[in-house]
Amino acid sequence: MSIELTALFGGTFDPIHYGHLLPVIALAKEVNLTHVSLLPNYIPPHKPQPVATTEQRLDMLRLAISDYPLFSIDCREITQAKSERPSFTIETLQSWRQEHGNEKNLAFIIGQDSLLNLPSWYNWQKLLDYCHLLVCQRPGYSQQINDPQLKQWLKAHQTESVDDLHQNPNGFIYVAHTPLKNISATEIKQRIQHRQDCQAFLPPKVWQYIQNHHLYNA
Ligand code: ATP
Repeated sequence: MSIELTALFGGTFDPIHYGHLLPVIALAKEVNLTHVSLLPNYIPPHKPQPVATTEQRLDMLRLAISDYPLFSIDCREITQAKSERPSFTIETLQSWRQEHGNEKNLAFIIGQDSLLNLPSWYNWQKLLDYCHLLVCQRPGYSQQINDPQLKQWLKAHQTESVDDLHQNPNGFIYVAHTPLKNISATEIKQRIQHRQDCQAFLPPKVWQYIQNHHLYNA
């Protein structure tokens, strides 16, 4: 019997696009996720800012998920933000555990680019104390891991068994076989500035919102 597995999917979502949504929908089928919470991050004033405001990023998330019941939005990184620094994922996971306890199964979803970049995350080796990590493939990012520490860590914790994710509250890394979607928020913004169509990359309601609000110079 599988026990419910909740998943969080963090990002800037400036804007949210099909490269976020479609791999995660496929992942949900692959590992039997009943629910995914999108977790928009907080960007402190001294960091490079997203082009859209926090409110606009949230509006686009709400529009994007309106046709996908799998998703909801978890605003804790924005509401619990400390103005001088970004929210660290490990602290977000601790906050989730405080709210839901240590028994529930929790997964955190990242793309392959984030996996390769993980050693730069604060306290990254402790992430598995709080959650499983689910990794979606992303075109252009190698599946080969060169960082020795990351390689070792993966070897110690990676599983190919979906049961491990459902039978344990945390502790495993699962690299999924999700479809490759060659879409990035940076490229979408560049295309908009060059007056190129982006319909294929975003849910229609998000594309309409961008145009109505002349976001990214639309
Ligand atoms: P940028 O293009 O500016 O880097 P992004 O869309 O990659 O933007 P985020 O919104 O922060 O940036 O991404 C959130 C998460 O989604 C990250 O874990 C990232 O790896 C993952 N992700 C983004 N695009 C894709 C994609 N096309 N395929 C798989 N994962 C993706």
